[in-house]
Amino acid sequence: MKRKLNGPADRPGTAGPAVVGWQEMPRGCVILNPGNALEYQTGDWRSFRPVWDENLCIHCLRCWIFCPDDSIVVRDGTMVGIDYDHCKGCGICARECPPKVGAIEMQKESGA
Ligand code: SF4
Ligand code: SF4
Repeated sequence: MKRKLNGPADRPGTAGPAVVGWQEMPRGCVILNPGNALEYQTGDWRSFRPVWDENLCIHCLRCWIFCPDDSIVVRDGTMVGIDYDHCKGCGICARECPPKVGAIEMQKESGA
């Protein structure tokens, strides 16, 4: 059985994903390098994109609290944007943004 790996750590010196056999995988498929989820561009999965309006935002950070992918970017207690490399487009941030504020709108990705 072959499995495609997408993390850069799994494909040193190559542009595409490496393919390894089951003999090369760690027993139980345990993750040996914790935190490697950052290497996966899960934003590729997205069919809807959260679009943030900086002018409407009141920086309550409800979106940051509820985002399951840690894709709301905050600096010094202020929202500064969305990490589209990892945002999967679930829409939770738009739903949790206070209705009277409405600073995040979900829009269909082009080509989705
Ligand atoms: S759409 Fe989902 S994953 Fe993307 S920023 Fe909002 S809550 Fe996070
Ligand atoms: S929930 Fe809405 S108002 Fe609050 S920080 Fe996020 S985008 Fe801004």
